[in-house]
Amino acid sequence: MEKSGKKIVRLEVGEPSFSTPDSVVGEAIKALKEGLTHYTHSKGIQELRSLLCKKYNLEFKTNLNPNENILITPGGKQAIFYIISSLVDKGDEVIIFTPAWVSYEDVARMAGGIPIFVECKKENNFDISFEDFKSKITKKTKAVIINSPNNPTGRIIKKEILKKIIDVCIKKDILLISDEIYDKIIFDKNKHYSILSINPKLKNCVLVNGFSKTYAMTGWRVGYVLAEKRFIDAMLKIQQNTVSCLSDFIQRGALAAIEKSNKFVKKSLGYYQQNKDILKRAFERGGNFKMIEPEGGLYAFIDVSSINRNSSKFCSTLLEKTGISAVPGIVFGKSGEGYIRICLAVETEKIIEFVRKIKL
Ligand code: PLP
Repeated sequence: MEKSGKKIVRLEVGEPSFSTPDSVVGEAIKALKEGLTHYTHSKGIQELRSLLCKKYNLEFKTNLNPNENILITPGGKQAIFYIISSLVDKGDEVIIFTPAWVSYEDVARMAGGIPIFVECKKENNFDISFEDFKSKITKKTKAVIINSPNNPTGRIIKKEILKKIIDVCIKKDILLISDEIYDKIIFDKNKHYSILSINPKLKNCVLVNGFSKTYAMTGWRVGYVLAEKRFIDAMLKIQQNTVSCLSDFIQRGALAAIEKSNKFVKKSLGYYQQNKDILKRAFERGGNFKMIEPEGGLYAFIDVSSINRNSSKFCSTLLEKTGISAVPGIVFGKSGEGYIRICLAVETEKIIEFVRKIKL
């Protein structure tokens, strides 16, 4: 439609509309000019591993070792692929809470695993029910994946639930993968709980994070994983024999993101919050649609079932009639049917246009 000249309001995107901060770009260019164009250590440059561990150790009073507990990866996505493919064997079960980011299921299947879905219910604001989770654990359960704040629902896992999930995983020797990629994008007075705040030694746990969302660096492909040495060693084997390492200048940019982008992070969060508030106010005025209020993350998950329960058809009609693109909730699992996902990290005018065009 865009090629035929139609203007599309792109709300289906999964990334900030901002460009990467200048301070980060400048540092990467400087590194290139200085000749940092060679292979690096397969685990990532020492400075970046040390800085990340120091940051987490300060915040959570942990004792992460930059030589043992961290691996810099080409994006959080690759980190998830590494851990699943190194530990999940044919027939192993991987528990996934839905609605869920689409890659978890595919990666589990690629490793020969069997995805087992725990459906989070809309009556419960899509929050996790510990009992529903526990009922899905079997002798074959190898791993559980959690994501908080969640893509697409924006919900944050409550501390008591997180604690119970960690306890069960340790007791039953199940690997817990915690995808915390949206941990710095938190709305209002909500609080995100990292697995590190409950499980400082990361026993049986793997924490996945990255630079894509917080620092608007999706195209740079840089993420990382924190875990016990045994898991890092397993993942490192795949990294060493596939991509070898991340480009040096990319990692220098990531270093600058942590050191020099506080203002950017604050400003962009204010912007996402403003977009969320505009939507919230619009939905409070009534109309056909309802929104599960996001507590964090980059998205709003909107109930469109009073118009059409088939979210794919709803999105097609929305696109054809209004030129607005959104993601059908069904792609995030059965429990997402009847919903659509739109991105909050876009220009405010687009959010206003969305509100106007769907006649809230
Ligand atoms: N995890 C979640 C929940 C995501 O939404 C995304 C990207 O959309 C990722 C991980 C992967 O991010 P990246 O590979 O860019 O670090």
